[in-house]
Amino acid sequence: MFIIETMKLDTLNSTANIFLILKGAASEMLTNTDLIELTEFRQQLHRHPELSGEEVETARTIISALKLISPTEIITKIGGHGVAAIFDSRVSGPTILFRAELDALPIEECNDIDWRSLIAGKSHACGHDGHMTILLALGRMIARNPISKGRIILMFQPSEETGSGAKAVIEDPKYNQIQADWAFAIHAKPGSPFGYVATCPGLINCASLGLIVKLTGKTAHAANPEDGISPTQAIAKLAPAIEALSQSRELNENFQLATITHIQIGDPSFGIAPGDGIIYITIRAARDEQVIMIEGSVRKLALLIAKEYGLDVEFVLSDIFAASINDQDAYQIAVNAMNAIGVLNGNLGLPMKASEDFGVFGKSAKAAMLCLGLGEKYPALHNPNYDFLDDLIPIGSAIFERIARDLLGTK
Ligand SMILES: [Zn+2]
Ligand SMILES: [Zn+2]
Repeated sequence: MFIIETMKLDTLNSTANIFLILKGAASEMLTNTDLIELTEFRQQLHRHPELSGEEVETARTIISALKLISPTEIITKIGGHGVAAIFDSRVSGPTILFRAELDALPIEECNDIDWRSLIAGKSHACGHDGHMTILLALGRMIARNPISKGRIILMFQPSEETGSGAKAVIEDPKYNQIQADWAFAIHAKPGSPFGYVATCPGLINCASLGLIVKLTGKTAHAANPEDGISPTQAIAKLAPAIEALSQSRELNENFQLATITHIQIGDPSFGIAPGDGIIYITIRAARDEQVIMIEGSVRKLALLIAKEYGLDVEFVLSDIFAASINDQDAYQIAVNAMNAIGVLNGNLGLPMKASEDFGVFGKSAKAAMLCLGLGEKYPALHNPNYDFLDDLIPIGSAIFERIARDLLGTK
């Protein structure tokens, strides 16, 4: 396509020439057959969602699809069930990693579609099925028309939803042979115009962590609660004190949130005065250090109030997400690529309060996250009626491909 657009028609003076040019053009873009097959592939993934850490079949499906495009190497079981395909030009140059996620969510899908989830209580409600397909589409284009230098890594990362997958991948000794210089990811974004990419330099996704506070006292007969130590009053005091740590709900420099997501006291019965209680809190802020500071404040409050009521207290950390920070150079490369292929982009709706563990790749590579618009009225992520839009497959993969060509050329 690119060649034909820039070439004068009078230079196309033979059938052979035309054939060669079209062949060259076709190898750089997706064909109708590609799009049909990739859509079927995406819908197949959608039917079989697997939760974080359990992505065995999904990884198997990805490996089978990758084998058909013959990358130089396929690394399996990286950081859990992760899969990485390496396309190596065997000429020295940078390594560019493109990231997708393998996992789905514990959400019952309520869509009435042919490719509805076949697994009760689980669905691809974050669209990771689509992100995997975009990566495979990129793989098809690179396989047909190899890069002239450096390496491309298609990274299918596990356990994004729990915030543990990217870290596990980076810490896996198998990552030593990857060591990306650049990293890019696309996440579909409802609420933005269709095909519009929101991105910005600096902070793009906030940091967050989950903190569980376990309070332990002593059960008693419900007729004699004075014989036990109930956590009820402590939790009644602690819950509003924790939520009061939230400051600005707008994303400015004061932004910090402590959101209680779950509380349980004792068991559902009428005969027992409770002896234990549990609170789940999600802490969120723009910077990693700020999240740790708020966590410290919650711990202090809990210890103080537990002591007041004679309760033991225990803390468990979970779902730790570093802030995602877009590198200035990686951001600029992505913007140049999008401008070159006519993808509208800007910083609409950014940064986001939601977290994303892609930020971990940004600690050792120049990284940029791109949020690809699904349309203003599209169902939100993690909603039971969210379903990735297949029309984004050619757009997402074209952006990735252009980034790859700009950095690594074409053989
Ligand atoms: Zn998600
Ligand atoms: Zn997601």
